[in-house]
Amino acid sequence: MTSDLQTAIGFDAVHAVNDRYTPPPAGELDALADLLDDGRLSGGAPILAAYEHALAAWFGVRRAVAVNSGSSALHASLHTLGVRYGSEVLIPATAPLPTAMPILTCGATPVIVDTLPDRLALDPDDIEAKLTPRTRAAITLPMWGYPADDRAARQLLDEAGVPVVEDACQAHGTRVAGRYAGTLGRVGCLSTHDRKPLSTGEGGFVLTDDEDLAERIDYYTHLGHLRGNLHGVNAKLAAPLAAIGLRRLARLTEQLDARRANARLVLDALPPNGRLRELPYGPADTPNFYNLVLLVRGEPAPVAAALATAGLPPDSIRYGYRPLYHQPLFQRYARRCPNAERLATASVQLPVHPGMSELELQWVTDRLADLATGD
Ligand SMILES: *Cc1c(COP(=O)(O)O)cnc(C)c1O
Repeated sequence: MTSDLQTAIGFDAVHAVNDRYTPPPAGELDALADLLDDGRLSGGAPILAAYEHALAAWFGVRRAVAVNSGSSALHASLHTLGVRYGSEVLIPATAPLPTAMPILTCGATPVIVDTLPDRLALDPDDIEAKLTPRTRAAITLPMWGYPADDRAARQLLDEAGVPVVEDACQAHGTRVAGRYAGTLGRVGCLSTHDRKPLSTGEGGFVLTDDEDLAERIDYYTHLGHLRGNLHGVNAKLAAPLAAIGLRRLARLTEQLDARRANARLVLDALPPNGRLRELPYGPADTPNFYNLVLLVRGEPAPVAAALATAGLPPDSIRYGYRPLYHQPLFQRYARRCPNAERLATASVQLPVHPGMSELELQWVTDRLADLATGD
């Protein structure tokens, strides 16, 4: 859908919306060459421990366990916390498919809960209404890297003895009350898929301060370390991906700063009191700007369509994103979640990644200004 104007100004829709930019950090090829020379390429290679230590240090937690995807991180966390057939797992209606599928992988039942109005945080009242003796875990989700301040819900869940699993798969560097997303619950799950702020192609990791839980997740994802007394899966991260992750982790802060600056540029140009405003969050919270997320006042569909025509399709069009219970797989778990329904349908997501050129950012800014002041 590239218009003549887009061509004329050098706007490349495919580049702008495809967030794959991570300039290979200096030394990346050398690190890979060393590894190839060494020959130990499996998930049992020594570089894995170095990568896990670096991740734990960056996020300020006791333990990180590297795995082969964010999905594996979620599955291994839920399984290790005892989620099985007959268990119920609380999940916000704003969750995308990859957050929810690991619940089904465990054979458990998703119980879909609402969020607070215009927020990603779980609604404590709805949690209270939906907790049962079968509730084994609750997933919280800083979607699009926007802070989900779940403190009220977490207190309730703590009292009920229900562990919180944070799906921070897109939220590297997001902060809630000064603390990193992924370190707020019992365990945090992050992805290093190509589109995430830290990319190793495919990959993920688990963060926790609970040494015992980390150890059990490590055993589970490493075939029980082949001791023969513990069941496990093989979800190890291959050594070359750990080598890539280790190098790129050193550049993560710089990448996040660039996102923040780009988001600021676009937001500052947004007309005040127009029909677009940023998804709100608390004064002590910071998004990582995985996407810039705006809420549409009034009818969102025409705005989404206009953005798609401008080469900037929001998630509803690009990925068919919608409240979880509108996905065929999850329709049977539908519960009334008016706040999440509104947030999911009235939000649009814009790219602000560090690989965008000035022209591309200008294009985004101009399109938004037009749309925000439109009728
Ligand atoms: C990417 C993502 C996942 C899954 O991660 P993979 O590494 O692709 O398996 C899960 N949840 C969210 C919110 C994600 O963005």
